[in-house]
Amino acid sequence: MKQKETLLNSLRPNGNGKHNGVHNHNKKDQEKLENGKYEEMGDEHVATSYETPMRDDAFELSDDTKIKLIEERFREIMDILGLDLTDDSLNGTPHRVAKMYVKEIFSGLNPENKPKPTMFENLYKYNEMLVEKDITFYSNCEHHFVPIYGKAHVAYISSGKVIGLSKINRIVQYYARRPQVQERLTMQIGKELEKMLETENVAVILDADHMCVSSRGVQDTSSSTITSYYGGKFQEENTRNEFLKYVDMRK
Ligand SMILES: [Zn+2]
Repeated sequence: MKQKETLLNSLRPNGNGKHNGVHNHNKKDQEKLENGKYEEMGDEHVATSYETPMRDDAFELSDDTKIKLIEERFREIMDILGLDLTDDSLNGTPHRVAKMYVKEIFSGLNPENKPKPTMFENLYKYNEMLVEKDITFYSNCEHHFVPIYGKAHVAYISSGKVIGLSKINRIVQYYARRPQVQERLTMQIGKELEKMLETENVAVILDADHMCVSSRGVQDTSSSTITSYYGGKFQEENTRNEFLKYVDMRK
């Protein structure tokens, strides 16, 4: 972990008894922030690592505490924007957003929510490719916190283990429910399936729309982004083409 200070420290009240809600950047971060590097990097959607960058103390706070703290801070954001929080329509928004973050759209940050795989022995000796295509997923861009959504196509060739089909969908959903970049999401799904299935013969394609590209920035509404992960036999052209044929993505 890069940051030394803990989440609890950053939430500790400062001298005047108020919470210091702003996370303390270190000097290098501060410099980057000042010369606009963060913004630049965000718009290029560059990921820094394949593991989601998490702090060591990420789960020291309970879900309920997180919801309470996020609610307070989201209320502040709305307030700063000048919204009237006494309005009946807006009053419950901070709580709704906080609960949605922790319990739904970012629930995949917590390893406790990781699906437990139901694995079976490959008794019927099906040694061909299995393809699960058009799995709908919803994620959020970690640079802008707006949706990334699209379809995942997943394939594997069994090494003796098979996985319940709905579990493939659940693994996709679990990793999607994090602040993400599409490349990392693709790799996390691929690597997880490799581990569970005990085979490198795994392929993942994600075809997604990014709201941060369509609704802001360059405002391109027709482009989509395709990322892929090919392990083991899928690195061979024949196997890869067979998969692409099934998902109808051959060139
Ligand atoms: Zn973005």
